[in-house]
Amino acid sequence: MKHFDVAVIGGGILGCFAGRSLLRYDLTAAIFEAREDLCTGVTRANTAAIYAGYDMKPGTLKTRLCVEGSRNFEKLCTELGVRYKRCGSIMVCFGESGAKVLEKKYRRGIENGVEGMKLLSKEEVHALEPAISPDIYMGLYAPYSGTADPWELGLAAAENFLANGGEILKNCPVTAIEKNTDGYRLITPNGEFTARAVINCAGLFADEVREMTNPPQVRIFPEKCDYVVLDTTQSNLVNHVIFFEPEEKEKGLTLVPTVDGNILIGGSTVSASDKAENLTTVEGLEKVITQAKEIFPALSAESIIRSFAAIRPNPWAVIADEKGEFIKDGGSINDFTVLDDGDFISFIGIKTPGLTCAEGLGRLAADKIAAAIGKTAPNADFDPVRPPETRFANISREEQAKLIAADSAWGRMVCHCRHVTEAEVIAAIRAGAVTLDGVKRRTGAGMGRCQGAGCSMKIIQLLSQQLGIPASEIKKDSHGSKMIFKR
Ligand SMILES: Cc1cc2nc3c(=O)[nH]c(=O)nc-3n(C[C@H](O)[C@H](O)[C@H](O)COP(=O)(O)OP(=O)(O)OC[C@H]3O[C@@H](n4cnc5c(N)ncnc54)[C@H](O)[C@@H]3O)c2cc1C
Repeated sequence: MKHFDVAVIGGGILGCFAGRSLLRYDLTAAIFEAREDLCTGVTRANTAAIYAGYDMKPGTLKTRLCVEGSRNFEKLCTELGVRYKRCGSIMVCFGESGAKVLEKKYRRGIENGVEGMKLLSKEEVHALEPAISPDIYMGLYAPYSGTADPWELGLAAAENFLANGGEILKNCPVTAIEKNTDGYRLITPNGEFTARAVINCAGLFADEVREMTNPPQVRIFPEKCDYVVLDTTQSNLVNHVIFFEPEEKEKGLTLVPTVDGNILIGGSTVSASDKAENLTTVEGLEKVITQAKEIFPALSAESIIRSFAAIRPNPWAVIADEKGEFIKDGGSINDFTVLDDGDFISFIGIKTPGLTCAEGLGRLAADKIAAAIGKTAPNADFDPVRPPETRFANISREEQAKLIAADSAWGRMVCHCRHVTEAEVIAAIRAGAVTLDGVKRRTGAGMGRCQGAGCSMKIIQLLSQQLGIPASEIKKDSHGSKMIFKR
């Protein structure tokens, strides 16, 4: 039976960062991921904004990690070779009651230690965002804010974890855990493993994983949010991450000018009956589009190239009712829920700003677990740096010509919208992509205006050749999403 000092359950962004941080210590660690690829859960579908930290209650773990995380985000992305657009954010409002909320958030930001914030007059907002509605009343600007691709960052952390000696077991759901005197026995369909300690980063399912060895304490109640993505033809419309402050609520709608030049808009909240329910709703999408057009009147709904739903893992404390069933106790928990059971740490329902805080949360869990099992000696060989991927579309003509001369695969264009070459797709497959969306998340192929109409067949062929499996076995993303049904 294979043994690791620490088993990380879940290969989303938190699991990838927890694993990476663990290897700063002289210990062995593995990430167990239920699905065929990493970063396909909550990390795949969210707002992708880096929050400055003025929104949150002073003195909480969430606030501390968010303020630190946003301040250090550029350095983290440079270290991991990941794109980060530190464009700053502006929270805007339409009237006096909204202005009072922005002033309150400004004061809260000062208390939280957020640097460089500024309250903007209507004219100042328009100077920074010329296409914004003339009815905007006021803005709150924060410079340590921006956007990154969540999966790009998570996958980079995972690569760095592997490069430092970590092990990743995909298609390996942990279905049961037994506690014994030396730690834990993890049962999976691929066999049993032992670990001295566990970090539970199972996202939407983290409550269920914790309950494999502990009584229920906090459970996840899902909620759904709808999003739309605009084509890059609209990229000049929005310059900053824009938060729309409706009235007293934390935030209403967010518009994000992504690192790829799209505008991501969301997310209207709709209730969800289960954790896997990720279908968009007409009602949710209409709300997003209507509200977005109120803020940017020139925004064209015809330039929407994609819509998707994200699932928000809301954590609630639970108690047993008279029938012994666990029901919600009090309100939804606002701070990050990190349940510390000594040598078993669980992140339950980490929602916004989990992306901003992923590195901080990973480090927190790794430090606690290393101390709990007495493995605090540093790993002298740990290298935090991961070199950036070469993106054909972003290099000079001379550099492109050199690459093509060395390997003709650089000269064969696969995705014409995003200018992604065969060499990049092959590199992505070698790095672990096994589905069309796995290639998309690693290279951007299929993310352009045609949404894969032009390149999907070529990518299926490359996946088939590289993985040595029939094209009919290649999936778009999750279970049951085969693309080819018969020859
Ligand atoms: C709608 C929405 C918008 C958001 N917007 C932002 C934002 O703009 N900025 C920001 O900072 N944060 C944002 N967040 C928060 C951020 O996206 C999340 O905190 C983060 O992605 C959570 O990552 P995770 O690793 O916990 O979960 P996931 O990405 O869901 O990863 C969990 C993994 O565990 C695996 N797993 C589950 N059960 C098992 C098992 N038994 N065995 C093995 N593996 C298992 C799953 O397959 C999955 O891959 C947003 C969140 C939501 C929901």
